[in-house]
Amino acid sequence: MRVGLFGGTFDPPHLGHLAVCRAARDQLGLDHLEVVPCGHPPHRSAPQADDHHRLTMLRLTLEGEAKLAVSSREIEREGPSFTIHTLGELADAYPGAALFLVLGGDSYDDLPSWHRHEQIEALAHLAVIARPGAEGLAALREGDRSRVSRPDQPLPETGRAVIPVEMEPCPYSASEIRRQLARGLSPEGLVPAVLDYIHRHALYVPERSSSGMNPSPPDLLSVIQQTLATRKAENVVTLDLRGRCSFADHFVICHGSSERQVKSLAEEVQHAVRKQLGRKARAEGFQRAEWILLDFGDVIVHIFSESARDFFRLESLWQDAPRLDA
Ligand code: ATP
Repeated sequence: MRVGLFGGTFDPPHLGHLAVCRAARDQLGLDHLEVVPCGHPPHRSAPQADDHHRLTMLRLTLEGEAKLAVSSREIEREGPSFTIHTLGELADAYPGAALFLVLGGDSYDDLPSWHRHEQIEALAHLAVIARPGAEGLAALREGDRSRVSRPDQPLPETGRAVIPVEMEPCPYSASEIRRQLARGLSPEGLVPAVLDYIHRHALYVPERSSSGMNPSPPDLLSVIQQTLATRKAENVVTLDLRGRCSFADHFVICHGSSERQVKSLAEEVQHAVRKQLGRKARAEGFQRAEWILLDFGDVIVHIFSESARDFFRLESLWQDAPRLDA
C-alpha cells in the first residue's frame, strides 16, 4: 500500500494545492493521500483564517477527488504541528505501507530546518513538485543526488527515494491570494465554492486601524533590520546594490556569536517576514549554520558565524556599494 502526506497551511487552499494532490496521487500510484492543514505551524506565523474555515475550504477544494482525504489530525493535536509526528501517526495507522511526503519545491528547500528532518527522511520517500520561484529539485542537496528516482521506478529496497513529480507550473500562492482579497480584488486560483465561502464569511479582509485607514505594511528591509537588531545580531551592514548587481537590490550582512545564534537569527528573520509581509525566502546553509543565506529576491540576507564572515569578506567584494543605516 502507498500512503502520502501533504501538509500545509492552506490559508486558503488553492488550485496549486489541488494540482499537487492530483499529480502526486496519479504519478506515485497512491492508495491514500492525506491532506493535513497544520494547526500550530512551527515555521511561520499563525494562519489568518480559523482552523474550521481552513478545513471547510480544503474539503470544498478537494471535493469529489478519489483517494484524497482531508484530515484534522494536526489541528486536533496539542502543541506545534511537527511533520515527524504526523508521519509517525500515519506509519502506525498503515503498518507496512510505503510512506511519501509530498512537498512543493519551496518546502523541499526548507526541509533541513524542520524539526527532526533526518527522521522524516528516514521514514518517508520525498515526492517533490516544482514550484515557480523555488529551486526545488534544480538545487538538490548534495546527499540527495544519489537517491533520486522516477515515479515509475520501483522503490529502493533500503533507504528512501527523492522522487520528482511532474506538474504544469501553477503560479498560485496563498499569500498572494490573501493580498488580493485584502485589497478587495477577486483573485484567480480558487475553486468557485471557496471564493464564495470567503466572501460569505468575510475572510481575509483587512482589519481597520483606529483612524479607519489601513496601516501601510512595513517594507522588507526594515522588517529584516529590526529583527536582526532586536535579536542582537552583530555588526549589521546593509549594502545598496542597485545598479551594481543583477540578482539583488540589497544585501544585509551580519554575524552571530555561535552557530546556534546564526540559526536562530535566520529563523527569526524568516518568521518575521512571513508574519508581517507574507513572504518566504529561499534558504541555504541551515545544515552547517556557518553561513546562512536567505534569498527574498530583491533582498539577500547573509548571516555568518564570525570566522566565516572574516573568511569570506563579502563586504570587501562590494566595497564600492553605499551602506544604508538601519
Ligand atoms: P504561502 O503563499 O502563504 O506561502 P502556499 O500557497 O505556499 O502559501 P502552503 O499551504 O504553505 O500554501 O503550501 C502547502 C504546500 O503546497 C507546500 O509544500 C507548498 O510548497 C505547496 N504549494 C503551494 N502552492 C503551490 C504551487 N502553486 N505549486 C506547487 N506547490 C505548491
